[in-house]
Amino acid sequence: MYSSYDVIVVGAGHAGCEAASAAATMGSSVLLITMNMQTIAQMSCNPAMGGVAKGQIVREVDALGGLSGIISDKSMIQFRMLNRSKGPAMWSPRCQSDRNVFAWEWRKALENNRNIDFWQDTVNEVIVKDGRVVGVKTNLGIEFKAKSVVLTNGTFLNGRMFIGEKVFGGGRTAERSATGLTEQLVSLGFESGRMKTGTPPRVDGRSLDYSKMEEQLGDEKPGKFSYTNTPTLTTQRSCWITYTNQAVHDELKTGFEKSPMFTGRIKGLGPRYCPSVEDKINRFADKDRHQIFVEPEGWDTVEVYVNGFSTSLPEDVQYNALSKIPGFENVRMFRPGYAVEYDFFPPTQLKPTLETQLVKNLFFAGQINGTTGYEEAACQGLMAGINAHRNAVEESEFTIKRSEGYIGVLIDDLITKGTEEPYRMFTSRAEYRTLLRQDNADLRLTEKGYEIGLASQERYDAMVQKRKDVSDLTESIRVTKLKPEDINGWLESKGSSTLREKSSLYTLLKRPEVDLNDVNHLLQLIPDGPGGVGEEVIEQTVIEIKYEDYLNREKQNAEKLDKWENLSINSAFDYDRLKALSYEGREKLKRLRPATIGQASRISGVSPSDVSILLVYMGR
Ligand SMILES: Cc1cc2nc3c(=O)[nH]c(=O)nc-3n(C[C@H](O)[C@H](O)[C@H](O)COP(=O)(O)OP(=O)(O)OC[C@H]3O[C@@H](n4cnc5c(N)ncnc54)[C@H](O)[C@@H]3O)c2cc1C
Repeated sequence: MYSSYDVIVVGAGHAGCEAASAAATMGSSVLLITMNMQTIAQMSCNPAMGGVAKGQIVREVDALGGLSGIISDKSMIQFRMLNRSKGPAMWSPRCQSDRNVFAWEWRKALENNRNIDFWQDTVNEVIVKDGRVVGVKTNLGIEFKAKSVVLTNGTFLNGRMFIGEKVFGGGRTAERSATGLTEQLVSLGFESGRMKTGTPPRVDGRSLDYSKMEEQLGDEKPGKFSYTNTPTLTTQRSCWITYTNQAVHDELKTGFEKSPMFTGRIKGLGPRYCPSVEDKINRFADKDRHQIFVEPEGWDTVEVYVNGFSTSLPEDVQYNALSKIPGFENVRMFRPGYAVEYDFFPPTQLKPTLETQLVKNLFFAGQINGTTGYEEAACQGLMAGINAHRNAVEESEFTIKRSEGYIGVLIDDLITKGTEEPYRMFTSRAEYRTLLRQDNADLRLTEKGYEIGLASQERYDAMVQKRKDVSDLTESIRVTKLKPEDINGWLESKGSSTLREKSSLYTLLKRPEVDLNDVNHLLQLIPDGPGGVGEEVIEQTVIEIKYEDYLNREKQNAEKLDKWENLSINSAFDYDRLKALSYEGREKLKRLRPATIGQASRISGVSPSDVSILLVYMGR
């Protein structure tokens, strides 16, 4: 009954699902062990995917052949492209999801993969022989064998939940925590730490008065995440905006002396950019109101998520404070908010493949690495799943550079700098963010996904066609010459200077006052029209033309630095041999064991002169 597998994935959250799917799609036999098969791909917190920088990650996961984008498209109830008024590097897709459909679509996708077996149980030990993982042991005392193991335990390791003065063992509401595994990993030599996160109360939508709130509609023309032919929304559900006020703050303050955060009962650090409501009114005492997004949890449910009101104050305080919010006067609460504190493993103990440095073929992905967010977890799961498969079949490492994707930025940040608080992605973390846009993730990554056998032929062909269409349209725009008499009227109406002689459409598109909304009109000036290409091709072409100089500069910078990214350092390199290294530099290099000179140069404490010494040693 208990076969041995190429890859075992522990945990079926966002990281675990992507890991299992990737490894199995590439040909590994996979066993997915999870504590509760009814909670596969649960959205522990808000029912939403994407958002600023996170939407770009979902597009990258999709471009490589992962499933989060497809599942999001199949389960969304509202879509918005955030930051449309800013430059294209900032455009970020975000959807409101149907929580149940999301989880169900994931389960269906995994069940449809014949290479995946399932087992409901709790893993409390990894079996290690001669520095290499060879399997896992479960609560039922069963040993499963595997060539690679991916741990994606989320918030469950020694999880403790807090509501006011009440404390429960658990990884998520109504779910047990996982015990034993942290202690065993620590006994193997791993370092662990403690973090915390929190979630708001859920309320009954029938008890709310939406006439007192602002309606937030989805986009008129909803987009989607996947580059494949998933459906777009034809109807959408609205979200709503309301605000806290002084009365709400006063109610919340009555619970401060019972707050597990303010009384020091929670030790772990929480996500700074996703603070609890009590934290917000405490830290920003001069602000008289905070925004609350009232978000439906799905198509066919009255349950509503109160975004912006994450709290671990006593439930009666939560209720009293909620009922002072405009529109919430008659609120009925379904479940209180709570905080959860859990173990994580500082990610500086990992290689760029997410394999641990200490135990061969053992991988960590998701919240266990100190990150927060479904998207951050999903992309790590994908990368760990790919590399777990490649290790199992003895193929080379698969990594993504910082200049190639947010996924590269995230993993490099984690393994190079570590994190003291739950790490979430921001566009500001990426030095090449104009290259790493949501519109071009397929052009950046699909070929890589295809080469390793993850992205399908169909996906690859679609990307090649898009690349050709963009190139053809760029050429048509370049050769289209406009006569002053045909365009000057329009230019005047835009407040743009008129032409004295013929000029190419190409140069006209570069003018800052010509924006993307004008493009459809301008493309009609091409003698044969834009050639029946889709909106994605038009958008991509125009972005590449408008920002050409900027993008070229950024590409050149990336290429310059890439030279260092391509200079590998042997993981067993003896830094003690290089006496000229600074003391701090040598200690950090010995501890973090960077994979490349590029990574070494980003370690805090490794000085430019340390890098020069390494380069001289390597004959550069
Ligand atoms: C209360 C709460 C609030 C949150 N708030 C936010 C927020 O505001 N913003 C945000 O971006 N993110 C938030 N998150 C985080 C978000 O849910 C996670 O980042 C994301 O779900 C992590 O994905 P994961 O796959 O790493 O782990 P999870 O989604 O937690 O999945 C872990 C899976 O592993 C299983 N498992 C664990 N241990 C074992 C074991 N030993 N054996 C077998 N199975 C095991 C669990 O059953 C579960 O299925 C919150 C999470 C919680 C719980």
